[in-house]
Amino acid sequence: MIKKILIANRGEIAIRILRACKDLNISTVAVHSTVDADAMHVRLADESVCIGPAQPRESYLNVPAIISAACVTGADAIHPGFGFLSENAMFAHMVKEHGLIFIGPKADQIAMIGDKIMAKKTMARIGLPVVSGSDGTVTSIEKALRMAEKMGFPVLIKATGGGGGRGMNVARSPQDVPLAYETARREAGIAFGNDSVYLEKYLENPRHIEFQILADQFGNAIHLGERDCSLQRRNQKVWEEAPSIVLTPAFRDEFGRKIATAISQLGYVGVGTLEFLYENDQLFFIEMNTRLQVEHPITEMITGCDIVCEQILIASGEKLSLTQEEVKFSGHAIECRINAENPATFIPSAGTVSNYHCPGGPGVRVDSALYDGCKIPPYYDSLIAKLIVCGRDRQQCLARLRRALREYVIDGVDTLVPLHQKISDNPNVVEGKFDIHFLEKIFGN
Ligand code: ADP
Repeated sequence: MIKKILIANRGEIAIRILRACKDLNISTVAVHSTVDADAMHVRLADESVCIGPAQPRESYLNVPAIISAACVTGADAIHPGFGFLSENAMFAHMVKEHGLIFIGPKADQIAMIGDKIMAKKTMARIGLPVVSGSDGTVTSIEKALRMAEKMGFPVLIKATGGGGGRGMNVARSPQDVPLAYETARREAGIAFGNDSVYLEKYLENPRHIEFQILADQFGNAIHLGERDCSLQRRNQKVWEEAPSIVLTPAFRDEFGRKIATAISQLGYVGVGTLEFLYENDQLFFIEMNTRLQVEHPITEMITGCDIVCEQILIASGEKLSLTQEEVKFSGHAIECRINAENPATFIPSAGTVSNYHCPGGPGVRVDSALYDGCKIPPYYDSLIAKLIVCGRDRQQCLARLRRALREYVIDGVDTLVPLHQKISDNPNVVEGKFDIHFLEKIFGN
């Protein structure tokens, strides 16, 4: 069993992992940049190491500094959280080379699944429905045009190694292709250091539905149902729900088992999320994330399964602590991503939290690293807290969510709390009528 974990992350997710470690009686090492010296994840960890200056590439992406910190403190495993190095196959490989456990799948699986074309081909081969698109990368405007004509417009030009909703552009007609192609390539080159792109059929009004899976080293793989993450802005999730109101229990059970079987056939070990677009009563695979997902708590709320503890146990070489038959779904959960951003313009807002009051009461969970007087530095992702609420059904969940949003006080920086208040009051949202474009249509870009 793992005894000491270095958490290679910051903010709420570092604290979430820390809490799982405490529950499992595992010691923790926090790492931090110079500007995060007073951060809550540092205060709560058993030990901490400063790994460099504020800029992420010099600290939270600084592989030699992180691995050295693990070796110096005698950690036997590294948990990457999400973002930063969590889907970096080279990092996973280096961690292993240094005799440490990487809490995630094997490096070659991260590399294969992180290549979106390869992932789609693999999932199609093992029998999952995938969004139609080009077979491989598309290397010129002419080829993109030919492929788009063959597939039919509209098409989406997407970065092979993309993430965070970046590096994807829609072309609705042949005239749009050159600009969409060049822009996707440029964005992907800058953001991911890999400018290869591919084409996908652009679905006009889908929902985003994803399945959570867990797989151990003994070939046991289970699913924990789905999350509906359709409420997005610029292809990035803002609000997530579990379960999705469009799937029936019978469909969930059959499709979930199919995915779990497929994952176990691949020899995948760890937690993972398979993302699909849902249109005309069908799911089409778009990508898989080989790490913990921001929105994992809503699944925890409706299943009672601690996904982070399971992930650590899997990495320790233990068997999954529950079987598919033991997974029971109960009630409804919603997560609001509280970003430090202006709720109208979405411009990130750095500063000091001058007054903090966290909501509570039945059904309310807040995952955050906030405290009175804490600093929100401008260098990192703007997600500062997650408000997660559950109820016996969607209606009760929404009522509790509205109550919690009105209790939540975060002064000193702009946050998305007012936007979530509007979303939770919106009649279409209340009825569950939305697709991936809904938020942009209602609240603008
Ligand atoms: P990323 O890795 O950047 O998050 P994804 O492939 O997961 O990219 O897609 C992010 C979001 O972009 C999806 O949730 C969906 O809203 C939109 N999207 C992706 N592919 C398509 C598609 N083929 N048609 C329509 N929308 C899409």
